[in-house]
Amino acid sequence: DLSATDYRGYKGHDMLAPFTAGWHTTDLEPLVIQKSEGSYVYDINGKKYLDALAGLWCTSLGGNELRLVAAATKQLKELPFYHSFWNRTTKPSLDLAKELLDLFTANKMAKAFFTNSGSEANDTQVKLVWYYNNALGRPDKKKFIARTKSYHGSTLISASLSGLPALHQKFDLPAPFVLHTDCPHYWRFHLPGETEEEFSTRLANNLENLILKEGPETIAAFIAEPVMGAGGVIPPPATYFDKIQAVLKKYNILVIADEVICGFGRLGTMFGCEKYNIKPDLVSVAKALSSGYMPIGAVLVSPEVNDVIYSQSNKLGTFSHGFTYSGHPVSCAVALETLKIYKERNIIEQVNRISPKFQEGLKAFSDSPIIGEIRGTGLLHGTEFTDNKSPNDPFPPEWGIGAYFGAQCEKHGMLVRVAGDNIMMSPPYILSLEEIDELISKYGKALKDTEKRVEE
Ligand code: PLP
Repeated sequence: DLSATDYRGYKGHDMLAPFTAGWHTTDLEPLVIQKSEGSYVYDINGKKYLDALAGLWCTSLGGNELRLVAAATKQLKELPFYHSFWNRTTKPSLDLAKELLDLFTANKMAKAFFTNSGSEANDTQVKLVWYYNNALGRPDKKKFIARTKSYHGSTLISASLSGLPALHQKFDLPAPFVLHTDCPHYWRFHLPGETEEEFSTRLANNLENLILKEGPETIAAFIAEPVMGAGGVIPPPATYFDKIQAVLKKYNILVIADEVICGFGRLGTMFGCEKYNIKPDLVSVAKALSSGYMPIGAVLVSPEVNDVIYSQSNKLGTFSHGFTYSGHPVSCAVALETLKIYKERNIIEQVNRISPKFQEGLKAFSDSPIIGEIRGTGLLHGTEFTDNKSPNDPFPPEWGIGAYFGAQCEKHGMLVRVAGDNIMMSPPYILSLEEIDELISKYGKALKDTEKRVEE
């Protein structure tokens, strides 16, 4: 029997509903998390959950990594705050910028600008790109192309870039300078008989047609997550980024990689750009940059863009942008220690060691009659529930199949992300092989419960 609490947190408010901010849209009891330990979190009643989403795709090193606590404490004692305006800054912020520029190898990067979040990083991208084009005397090159089903944040501009209707409806978004092109989800959108490569070619052609229709001189930049995260964990089809980038290059359009989820090892490479041979001009990072222990994001800027902004002939003057907490020394100190731990523990090797078991274990459920597609790569997973194995046969929304599955996971002691009939997981990198067995076993139990529910 499905009681109201079975649906807690999964139905009625899809996302962005922090109870503590009073934004909840249901009268159900919230799940109150009190402490964390390794790959687990505990609620205030002492119930233990495997944290299969790593908080919100971020606590890559799991709970109670005491080195991060020590780094924060040390910095709080020495210098809890100083800003990064007017050519003043702090040592942790300088050191972190240097580390980030060294770490990102898919394309050379010259500068890092710090924010508090991924949303602020993507807002900053838009202002940087506009400033860059204004400095080059082409103020009409202003439009951004993003993709349907993408997620880039929840501020006005980052929500505009996002391609999820829930973020646009009722908010008078997207902003008029934002266009959306196809979501590269092969299973859902390919034509009969079309291969992945042909699908990618068609999407690249559609992108080119959109650019030509709008006028290439009006398109400033294209933004993409290497693997789409909140849209359902959608890895790109074969040859997709090669073909898309060829079109963008042809029309002199900047590439922005949103590495907020994929960055820092989640896909088994330090950045998603390495995995898919993406050569971005600008990069957004956040989340695993500090293993979620302190809020921090950053924008990395290529030498070409940086040179224009800082060139002597740039008559625009200062890039007038920044946040009080840009480069917050405590956040930077924690991020520096996080990156140090990634190196020392060879986090890429660790992710590549455990992710095959994670992926294969979950793929084994593909035959379930209520699963349309199981997908993922590295330590990212997406399940999509549909009837008849078809993308065109969704279950009636009022059945709340995804919500029911999420509630069953919670019952069995595991937390996942639910969005409609999509389930997503992005566990901490520290997961042991035994914990992967446990994750798969809990997923299997929740799936059995959900299959039974559909049969009824
Ligand atoms: N970009 C991507 C790809 C994300 O997944 C997210 C958050 O989930 C954001 C940007 C926004 O980051 P934040 O929630 O830190 O503002």
